[in-house]
Amino acid sequence: MSRAVPPETRTFTVAVTGNPNSGKTTLFNALTGIHAKIGNYPGITVDRRTGTLTLPNAGRVHLVDVPGTYSLTARSLDEEIAINALLGRKGLMRPDAALVVLDATSLERNLYFFMQVLEFDIPVVAVLNMQDAAHEEGIDIDLATFREIFKVPVVSTVARKGQGIAEVKEALNRVLIAPPSHQQAGWLWNPGPELQKDLQDLESAIQDEVHFPLETRNSRRAFALWLLASLHAESELVVRPRLRELTLAVQARIKSAGRDLDTETIAQRYTFIDGITPQLIKRVDSDKANLTDRIDAVLTHPFWGSLIFLLIMAIIFQALFSWSEPAMTFIENFFALLTVGVQNIVPAGFFRDLLNEGIIAGVGAVIVFLPQILFLFLFISILEGTGYLARAAFLIDRLMRKMGLNGQAFVPMLSGFACAIPAIMATRTIENRRDRMLTIMAVPLMSCSARLPVFTLIIALLFPAKDKFGFLSIGTLMMLGLYLLSTLLALTAVSLLGKTVLKGRPQPLLLELPAYRLPDPKSVFMTLWERTRLFLTMAGTIILVITILLWLMLNFPRSGQLTQNEDVLRTAARGDQELLTRLDSRDQAESLQQSYAGRIGTFLEPALEPLGFDWKIGVGLIGSFAAREVFISTMGIVYGISGEVDEESAGLRQAMRRDRRPDGRPLWTPLVGASLMVFFLIAMQCMSTLAVTRRETKSWRWTVFMLVYLTSAAYLSSLLVYQGGTLLGLA
Ligand code: GDP
Ligand code: MG
Repeated sequence: MSRAVPPETRTFTVAVTGNPNSGKTTLFNALTGIHAKIGNYPGITVDRRTGTLTLPNAGRVHLVDVPGTYSLTARSLDEEIAINALLGRKGLMRPDAALVVLDATSLERNLYFFMQVLEFDIPVVAVLNMQDAAHEEGIDIDLATFREIFKVPVVSTVARKGQGIAEVKEALNRVLIAPPSHQQAGWLWNPGPELQKDLQDLESAIQDEVHFPLETRNSRRAFALWLLASLHAESELVVRPRLRELTLAVQARIKSAGRDLDTETIAQRYTFIDGITPQLIKRVDSDKANLTDRIDAVLTHPFWGSLIFLLIMAIIFQALFSWSEPAMTFIENFFALLTVGVQNIVPAGFFRDLLNEGIIAGVGAVIVFLPQILFLFLFISILEGTGYLARAAFLIDRLMRKMGLNGQAFVPMLSGFACAIPAIMATRTIENRRDRMLTIMAVPLMSCSARLPVFTLIIALLFPAKDKFGFLSIGTLMMLGLYLLSTLLALTAVSLLGKTVLKGRPQPLLLELPAYRLPDPKSVFMTLWERTRLFLTMAGTIILVITILLWLMLNFPRSGQLTQNEDVLRTAARGDQELLTRLDSRDQAESLQQSYAGRIGTFLEPALEPLGFDWKIGVGLIGSFAAREVFISTMGIVYGISGEVDEESAGLRQAMRRDRRPDGRPLWTPLVGASLMVFFLIAMQCMSTLAVTRRETKSWRWTVFMLVYLTSAAYLSSLLVYQGGTLLGLA
């Protein structure tokens, strides 16, 4: 069979696919040179890297770097993108062939994905990459046997060193001008009689319903199986209604017969792989393989492994909270300088205030967290690159499963201590949709770094540092307690949601431990650069808009003319700089109460009173719903502290301590502080987290659910703390 269109008049599209870390991007770069274009997949911000190369007969070829996955079942976002890219769904170009990159050091795992691609009859060239590492580990793959079994061209490469690239081009050229799809092995396992019937029932519906051509019977059968495994009632996979209904009906039939699709398919494919490996892979005992085994014996050891794990976590925490300090101070100083610059250049008035108090203060407060985020990703990409993360997930999996989550949730939950945004993005690696949702819903409960300044202020205000418990100050203990409490709350949420709205069992971790490698500095750097770009884009768009809105709400309507008395007062005070400053501060506080935000605070007061909060705290809470750290600068304006205000500011603390309720009792008592900290610990007060949740879940329902469940839990918990404390006489 040859293509109807002569090769020189059309551009072929080729997908580069395979497991994560098999070397796809490295191969892609080696084939296309440096001219990669980075765009997005339609509707989602997942990088889509494309480039071109020219082949002798096939001509111009459009190469697409597809996200790496372990399987093609659409259980995770990456898998959904991979299948869409391979089948040309959702507005993507259907590839004419696929380069399937296989990591020669763990061929068995990689063959699973490879078999799935073959089942779709997509013309492929198999690329056995990492041959250098395989050689070192004493792994020798028999290419002739490979060709014989799968009936596809196969090439050995060391993509990082550019070895075998010419052979890849040659094989691709041949496959493109004469696609041998009909000769490829196709299905290498037999579905049982029941499954065969299920697939047949769907195949006919696929034939006339699917909007893209699945020419061969194999491909239609593969698509039917894919639907059965991937579609569920509330999934957003694009499938026509009749086909969706039919699929759900067949699924129900399978379930009621007590059968399990996963066992029938996954086990079958692995049985096949296990059967061919003895002829395909020859292992020679090598020093490297022995060393890997010896290292693994320690790192996955229940005691020593856990100890090393805790040590690594301690280092990461240290980095997040103290090593990033200089960089954070630097960023703060930079924004302070910017403010001074604006003061010198822009004339006083609305525009200058908006720039300085609104935009620079607001966006700056968020960008300050960039160093922490970069540290986190630096560690994660190094740990991932070396192969350690797979061991950590393996080690922690049993513990996590007891609480209803799978081991892959561990890294995102850990990242939540820095910031929920990268943490939620990190859930992409979780294959099972339910497990991923569960993790996303619990991540915001991990105490992120934006809560830290708020806790610092309240603790410093209400719990004097001189009170000690042993050698630790009460403040330090409280901070530790808050982190512990936040972890407990997140795990409680997992367990509760996992038994109600997200019912199900966590997916078992099918994880083969990859070989240890030195992380590639270039790819670590690329990860950091991509994160920086994403984060700054977010700060420059969503956060910027929210900040401006909030500032306007806090400053408008501007309070009217000064009263006559005021004029007299001010004239009398002329020359007394201190008195004038105090008058200014009072004016500021008054105009705040008149502002839209102030009015909302007053309006909310009845609802907040049972928690121990007054309208001023209410205003602070409104601001903090955009970003938690805004609470502090709002308190600064509320208490009329002019000039620099931060959580260390003694003036702010004094003013807060002096504040009285209308009946004369002090407003800020330890009980109010406790109630407020509990509120901050639980409530969903971060627009950016909601934006990321919406983007990653592609569901408004879940996004709204997150906001509602966390905020109502926060309200109830604070209510419990304050009312309970009052009953016990703690107020
Ligand atoms: P991808 O996730 O499939 O895109 O994989 P990458 O191209 O990012 O490669 C993952 C890691 O493997 C990187 O550190 C590469 O430098 C490294 N790598 C790629 N090809 C080879 C190879 O042939 N041999 C060795 N030893 N390492 C390689
Ligand atoms: Mg890649």
